[in-house]
Amino acid sequence: LPGHIHDVTAAPISGGGAVIVMRDATPIERAERTQREFIANVSHELRTPLTSISGYVETLIDHEESLSPMARSFLDIILKNASRMTRLTEDLLALARVENREDAANPVPLAADRIVQDAIASVRGLVVDSGAKLSTGELSKQMVMASSDQIVQVLSNLIENATRYGRTRNGDPAAVEVSATQDGDMVRFAVRDHGIGIGSEHLQRIFERFYRVDKARSRETGGTGLGLAIAKHIIEEHNGKIWVESDLGAGSTFIFTLPLAASFSAP
Ligand code: ADP
Repeated sequence: LPGHIHDVTAAPISGGGAVIVMRDATPIERAERTQREFIANVSHELRTPLTSISGYVETLIDHEESLSPMARSFLDIILKNASRMTRLTEDLLALARVENREDAANPVPLAADRIVQDAIASVRGLVVDSGAKLSTGELSKQMVMASSDQIVQVLSNLIENATRYGRTRNGDPAAVEVSATQDGDMVRFAVRDHGIGIGSEHLQRIFERFYRVDKARSRETGGTGLGLAIAKHIIEEHNGKIWVESDLGAGSTFIFTLPLAASFSAP
């Protein structure tokens, strides 16, 4: 069945001969696709009732004068949780879209410094609210191949995480530095914080969906556990790499690379 066999492993066995294992990956791929479509459909179906719940609760809160203090505080909790579920469904849909390649990367040449400035502009409100100090290091003006919306989303997400998890032990607001440096035929984008850091045993796994070092803390700060999984997909679709370097208690640097536009030759 040419085209159906995905993975072939051969191993010699004692006494001569060999064992050849051929894995037909097609049913697995089909099952994964069905699962992704199911998640996308469920997320989509949850959107409308969630919008309705939030809408009615907001209307009730607007009529505060007719509410008892207890009703008011319960409505705040309902609204907070409905917003959390909305964020989760939005992130699940975004992940399903990148995984199913519905949002295929459509890279065009863009200046690296421009991408950084756009990402900073998109998180400005959040950074101001958190009291974080955001600064920029070297910002290369090299042109990279990038789907603007997707890469700005990745970078904004990393900056958002840095402001969330970047608080120092004594609770001082985060100091976050963003840079873009040319490295051979790539540009390295880096987001550095001086916060809680990540233990070495978690470094690989935090790019998995729903993997969180500290579930309670992530929930408290409004995280969904999907941001880095989405980021990894987007960067790999761009032929880049994403990783993190971190010292527990001293801070983390999230780094991703994008190919220089000049390194792309027309087919
Ligand atoms: P979340 O929505 O929970 O932030 P992410 O996928 O963005 O989900 O991140 C996954 C986990 O990685 C987080 O829950 C957190 O434990 C860890 N993490 C991400 N960014 C940082 C950071 N800058 N410093 C420390 N831990 C981080």
